[in-house]
Amino acid sequence: MTTLTTTLPPAGIQITTDSATEPFWQAAKENRLVAPKRADCGTFRPFCPNCQSQNVDWVTLSGRATVFSFSIVAGVPGQPELTLAAVVVDLPDAPGARLVSNVVDADPSAVQIGTPFVVDFVEIADGWKLPVFRVAADAVGG
Ligand SMILES: [Zn+2]
Repeated sequence: MTTLTTTLPPAGIQITTDSATEPFWQAAKENRLVAPKRADCGTFRPFCPNCQSQNVDWVTLSGRATVFSFSIVAGVPGQPELTLAAVVVDLPDAPGARLVSNVVDADPSAVQIGTPFVVDFVEIADGWKLPVFRVAADAVGG
């Protein structure tokens, strides 16, 4: 039997926010994946060296993503039964932006460079939600 990937126990996952990241986490509470778009030039960057714009529009994304890089972790200290798939994903509707996340409920062998995902959200500590990814239904069976 294959062990499906999961997150660390969600109740133990704590985040901290600041003014630069809080909009991301507030949107996640509403099951929305957002990315900061520079209002003046339209790029998705934490900071744009070209226009140095301070104006940011938090754009709601489709939630679709593809694997840019990944690592399968079989067992963590004290939790040998957990299989984690840590991924860096490309976000097709936020070109240039990438997100680090976990894949849930996937056969580890299904996580490959380019695998399409859709976002989902799991409740973590203090009422926040964590964006995670599932293998997109249209990826199964090719
Ligand atoms: Zn710019």
